[in-house]
Amino acid sequence: YPVDLNSILGIVCSNLESTIRQNQATIIYHNLPTVIGDSSQLVQLFQNLIDNAIKYRREEPPKIQISVELRENEYLFAVKDNGIGIDPKCFERIFQIFQRLHTPEEYSGTGIGLAICQKIVELHGGRIWVESHLGEGTTFYFTISSYSY
Ligand code: ATP
Ligand code: MG
Repeated sequence: YPVDLNSILGIVCSNLESTIRQNQATIIYHNLPTVIGDSSQLVQLFQNLIDNAIKYRREEPPKIQISVELRENEYLFAVKDNGIGIDPKCFERIFQIFQRLHTPEEYSGTGIGLAICQKIVELHGGRIWVESHLGEGTTFYFTISSYSY
């Protein structure tokens, strides 16, 4: 089904309303496309990424920028944060289920968020990967097939 990602982000922001408010997080997005997909899965995809971007924040208020560009036959999305970053040695591991880089005392969580994101992206015909520098921030990239209307 056609899914307007601007409304998906609206749902995500209202689901995460108290987390966003408590952390004074800013979530920036403009003119996201409509894609063919499953709306509840797409909510979960963006929600898991934004939840991480807020959880793994640094001292300053989290700022999350969602951008998209149209490639040949797919959209390339970027979800960029200004958080603690991820060691490049761990880029593969974080997408595996129950793999976490921190103790429960440091950050709570089960380690399934990104494994679910990867499944959802693959179900939508895309790929997901990460780029990051420790102490600077992280960008998750993923592709979703594009269809013209
Ligand atoms: P949950 O199942 O509650 O989401 P989780 O957040 O620990 O638990 P994932 O979302 O799968 O699990 O993330 C896996 C690991 O990747 C995290 O434990 C964290 O170490 C790292 N990580 C994920 N997103 C970020 C991010 N935006 N910035 C820094 N580290 C991140
Ligand atoms: Mg998570």
